[in-house]
Amino acid sequence: MKFLHGVTGSVMKRRHHRRIGNQPLRPESLMMSYGYDPQLSEGAIKSPIFMTSTFVFKTAGEGKRFFEVAYGLREQRPREELGLIYSRLNNPDTEILEDRLAVWDGAEACATFASGMAATATTFLALLRPGDVVLHSVPVYGGTDYLLDRILPAWGVRAVGFLAKDGVAGMQRAITELGDDARHVALIHVETPANPTNDLVDIAAAAKLARELTATHARTDRPVRVAVDNTFLGPLWQQPLAHGADVVIYSATKFIGGHSDVIAGAVLGSKAMLEPIRTHRTILGTMCGPWTAWLLMRSLETLKLRMTSAMKNARYVADFLADHPKVTRVHYLGHLQPDDPQHEVFQRQCRAPGSMIAFEVAGGEAEAFRVLDALQMVKLAVSLGGTESLAEHPATMTHSDIAVPHQLAMGIVPAMIRLSVGIEHPEDTIADLRQALDAM
Ligand SMILES: *Cc1c(COP(=O)(O)O)cnc(C)c1O
Repeated sequence: MKFLHGVTGSVMKRRHHRRIGNQPLRPESLMMSYGYDPQLSEGAIKSPIFMTSTFVFKTAGEGKRFFEVAYGLREQRPREELGLIYSRLNNPDTEILEDRLAVWDGAEACATFASGMAATATTFLALLRPGDVVLHSVPVYGGTDYLLDRILPAWGVRAVGFLAKDGVAGMQRAITELGDDARHVALIHVETPANPTNDLVDIAAAAKLARELTATHARTDRPVRVAVDNTFLGPLWQQPLAHGADVVIYSATKFIGGHSDVIAGAVLGSKAMLEPIRTHRTILGTMCGPWTAWLLMRSLETLKLRMTSAMKNARYVADFLADHPKVTRVHYLGHLQPDDPQHEVFQRQCRAPGSMIAFEVAGGEAEAFRVLDALQMVKLAVSLGGTESLAEHPATMTHSDIAVPHQLAMGIVPAMIRLSVGIEHPEDTIADLRQALDAM
C-alpha cells in the first residue's frame, strides 16, 4: 500500500455551481447548498445524515476501481466518477462540509477531524520526521504545547519557541540560537492572534523565513512548511493561505461550530499538501463522523452572521472595559495604536479585530476571581467562539500548566481575564461586566 488517497468519492455527482452568469457567488451564499444535490436524496433541502459505516458497490469491478485510486495504484482518470468506500475514508456529510469550509479560506482542499487537537496532531505526524525541529510561536494552545513539549520529543522531534510579542526579531533570534541545528527546522507553527494575549505573528514573515531556511539548507525534498492555527480569527477575519501559509488548522469547536455543542477540527491547504495529511487521517482514524459534519454544516450557514455580530459587540465591550477605572489594561486588536509595531501586521493580515478580549483588573488573582464569580449572564467556562459570551482565568485555567515565570514572560498575569464575546445584546454584556466589576 503506497498511498491511501483521501478519495473525494461522490464529488463528480454533486453540485459545485459557484457563479450566476458572470457573477461569482460569495461564501455566505454558498453555505446553504454548495456541494449538495437534493435530487440525490429524495429532494431533501438539507443533506441527510449518512449514518453508515460502509457503502455498497454496484459490482465487484466498481469496488476494484475505487480501491485502485484509494490506494494510489493509479491516478483518478479525468471525469472518472468514484464512489464511496468506508466512512473512515469518506462520507457524504464530511465531503460536503469540507467543500464548503474550503470556500472561506480559498483553499483547494480541506480535511475535517474529530477535534482541533486531532487536526493538529495528524498534521504534525504527517509533516515531521525524527530529527526535525519545530519552530513555534509562544504562547500556543495548551494541548498543542503538550504535544510539542511532551509527546513529540519521544518521536525525536524537538520544539523551539519564540515569543509572539517579540515579532520577526524573536523568530530570527530563535534561528540564530539554534545555530547548526537550524537546518533541521521542518515546520514553523504559528498561532495568531496568540491566546490569550492577542499578540500577532506576521504570517508573511514566517513564510519568508521558511523559504530562506529551505534555500540555505537545500531542503528540496522536504521544504520548510508553515502551519497557522487560525482558530481565533478565521475563517472570516484572517486567511493565512493568502499570506503564504502552507496549511491552516482550525479547532472547529470554536467559531466554526459556534454553538458550544460540538468538538471538531479542520486542516486546509493545496491538494498536494493535504494528501499526506489525509492518508495519516485515514490510518490514524482521526476523522470526524457524519453527525458532527452535519452539525458543522448547520453552523456554516450562519458563520458570517455570528462572527460579524460577535465582532461588532466586542468593540462596544472593549471600549467599555478600556474606560473602566478598575480595568488596568485591555488586549483587543481593535485598540492597537499606529505607533505599535503590531498595528501594521494587523492592517496587512487581519480583516477585523474579532471578538476575543483579554483584560486585566486592578489587583491580582483574588480580584479577577471576584469579577468572574459575580458574572450573571456571561458564563464562567473555557472554550470560545460560541453564541454565548464566556469568561475564564488563563493563569489558573487554560494556561495553568505553564510555569508562572513563563506565564509572566508571555504576558499572562494573575489579574487577567479572557473574554469571548458572544451574540447577546452588547448592552446586556456590558451591564453584566459593570455589575461584576462593581462587586470586585
Ligand atoms: C480549542 C483550541 C484548540 C484545540 O481544539 P479542540 O477542538 O478542543 O481539540 C487548538 N487551538 C486553539 C487556538 C484552540 O482555541
